[in-house]
Amino acid sequence: MLDVAGLSSRYGRVEVLHDVSITVSRGHIFALIGANGAGKTTLLRAISGVQPVTAGRITFKERSLNGVKASTRVKMGLSQSPEGRQVFAGLSVEDNLRLGAWTRSKADSDRGVQAAYQMFPILHEKKGLPAGSLSGGQQQMLAISRALMSQPDMLLLDEPSMGLSPLLIDQVFEAVCSLRDRGLTVVLVEQNANLALSIADQACVMETGRIVLTGSGSALQADPRVRELYLGE
Ligand code: ATP
Repeated sequence: MLDVAGLSSRYGRVEVLHDVSITVSRGHIFALIGANGAGKTTLLRAISGVQPVTAGRITFKERSLNGVKASTRVKMGLSQSPEGRQVFAGLSVEDNLRLGAWTRSKADSDRGVQAAYQMFPILHEKKGLPAGSLSGGQQQMLAISRALMSQPDMLLLDEPSMGLSPLLIDQVFEAVCSLRDRGLTVVLVEQNANLALSIADQACVMETGRIVLTGSGSALQADPRVRELYLGE
């Protein structure tokens, strides 16, 4: 579904992605793990079109994304839930959701809101409150739900476990698995490597802007180097 080939990207004069290639199959969870600063967020942003690339190509559903604006990529079925949640603190929970449906009809927006409330009932309880009043975990649920409002084929999910209690992490990861079971393709960037690999169909490890290992989630979980460097063994 997504093919990234030979991608490079830079901030100013500093190149932070070097010749990155990944292939993500339809209906899979693809986990991207690696240390802080490895380039995982930059890669997600390059795929969603908010970070310029200096070389390489991205193909999504067999169409080249080179030169395609971020907003057009959303209409093509790509949606990102950004690191740090970035909800609109002063707007209500429901208005935050509806903003995610800007590519869709009112009827689709209504259906999306109901689906979000079904997946995360706490959002229904708090639907009229400002998003800034939610806990970190609830804001994460809102950010994921907002990204789903455009009815994407692929969700780019950046650090969903960050700052969450273990109970909420379980809830968010269960939701991600059930989305995959319903056919959504997910690219998951995650510091919690063990958890990410345990649900991933495919995975890769990034180090200083390069992909250094690729395999199934279970193969990487069993890899001695991954165990030592990323699973704390
Ligand atoms: P983290 O988990 O800390 O977000 P990451 O693997 O997602 O790490 P990136 O955020 O993609 O890594 O950062 C890759 C490199 O690019 C790092 O060296 C980082 O310092 C640098 N970088 C990130 N954002 C910017 C920016 N806006 N300007 C300049 N350099 C940046």
